[in-house]
Amino acid sequence: MQIIKVQFLKGEIPSGKAYTYFSEETVSTGDMVQINSSAKGVITEVDIPESEIEDFRDKVKTIVGKVVSESKEEPGERFNVLDSLVAQKCYCKEESYPHFAPEDGICWKCNQQIYAEGKNRMGNLSKGISIEKAGSELITGCPHCNWSYCD
Ligand SMILES: [Zn+2]
Repeated sequence: MQIIKVQFLKGEIPSGKAYTYFSEETVSTGDMVQINSSAKGVITEVDIPESEIEDFRDKVKTIVGKVVSESKEEPGERFNVLDSLVAQKCYCKEESYPHFAPEDGICWKCNQQIYAEGKNRMGNLSKGISIEKAGSELITGCPHCNWSYCD
C-alpha cells in the first residue's frame, strides 16, 4: 500500500490543498486518479512516510485507482472468417456488386483463407482482410497472393 497525496480537480484544474490517501496500485506523481466515485485528482506526492500519517491513519481513505486515459489509437482491425464472409456478402448485396470473393473465403489460387492471416508470395506474413474491410470494400482479389477474382 502506497501513501500518497492527491489534489482534487476542479473541472480540469487541480485546486485546493493536497490530501493524504492510500493507493493499492503503484502510482507516481502527476498521475490522474479517481479518488472516489465522484472526484478525480492529481497525485502531488508519493511514498509519504507512515510516520506522517500516524495520528490520523484510521481516517485515511483509499483511492479508487488510476484513471485510464482514453486511448487515442485507432480501433484495431478485427479478423473473423465467418463475420467477414457475411460482411462481404451483405456489402455486395447492398451495393449491387457481383460477389467475386470465394464463397468459403479460401483462395482458389493459393489455398489460403483471405479473411485470416496468410503468407504472401515472398513468404512474408500478410494480414488478410479484416471484418471492417470486408464490410466496406468490394473484394476483387486475394490479399495474400494478389490473384484477381474478377478477371
Ligand atoms: Zn491467394
